[in-house]
Amino acid sequence: MNIRRERLLKEMGLAPIWRLRMGNEQDDAAPREQAAEPEARPPQGREAKIARMDWNELKQAVADCRACRLCEQRKQAVLGVGDIRPDWLLVGEGPGAEEDEKGEPFVGQAGRLLDNMLAAIGLKRGRKVYIANAVKCRPPGNRTPEAEEMATCFPFLQRQIELLAPKLIVALGRPAAQTLLKSEVKIAAARGRLFDCQGAPLVVTYHPAYLLRNLPDKAKAWEDMCFARSTMRRLTQPA
Ligand code: URA
Repeated sequence: MNIRRERLLKEMGLAPIWRLRMGNEQDDAAPREQAAEPEARPPQGREAKIARMDWNELKQAVADCRACRLCEQRKQAVLGVGDIRPDWLLVGEGPGAEEDEKGEPFVGQAGRLLDNMLAAIGLKRGRKVYIANAVKCRPPGNRTPEAEEMATCFPFLQRQIELLAPKLIVALGRPAAQTLLKSEVKIAAARGRLFDCQGAPLVVTYHPAYLLRNLPDKAKAWEDMCFARSTMRRLTQPA
């Protein structure tokens, strides 16, 4: 996190960044200072290669990827869509049938709701907004991607985040939140809190497909989007 953003977060009363503890303490977020990351081992092999890719190499690598069995039934891999210099990054779960067909995330019914959620806070896909998924290939039958599939795909998402350098990330639903935070997450408990993801503030909300089945929770998603918007304002507007 850059110094300016860190200072702003402090002034907002939002620092230290909240980050979930690892392990099974799923509802038990603890404030922590930024410094004390255990020293990471340098990534090896495939991961290291992905970590050095530029945008075009990443696009190609995702299109050609055969690292897990999700490649077997996909029509195409779906990297993401939008402004590649975004303020906002929204991360869903994985492409569905329509996304697999069109090669773009969130183009089905859930996507229409996501567009409405964006519009409600004055945003539009493609305008300072990038949309991606935790896995790039459609899980058969639109099932939830398995933990191993998300872990295999994660280096792509991680590199996407580095290259996009969003100011704020919104995790849509539990699988996205868990893959980004590398921890057990319950959306109900994590809503309204600010997490750290690769140096960017991250908020969670419900997945639009869940909201289509649970209409009363739309009001909560609206609150979450307002929280995201106010966080973004404070991050981007001079004090
Ligand atoms: N659901 C997702 O999580 N992502 C998509 O791209 C479409 C539906």
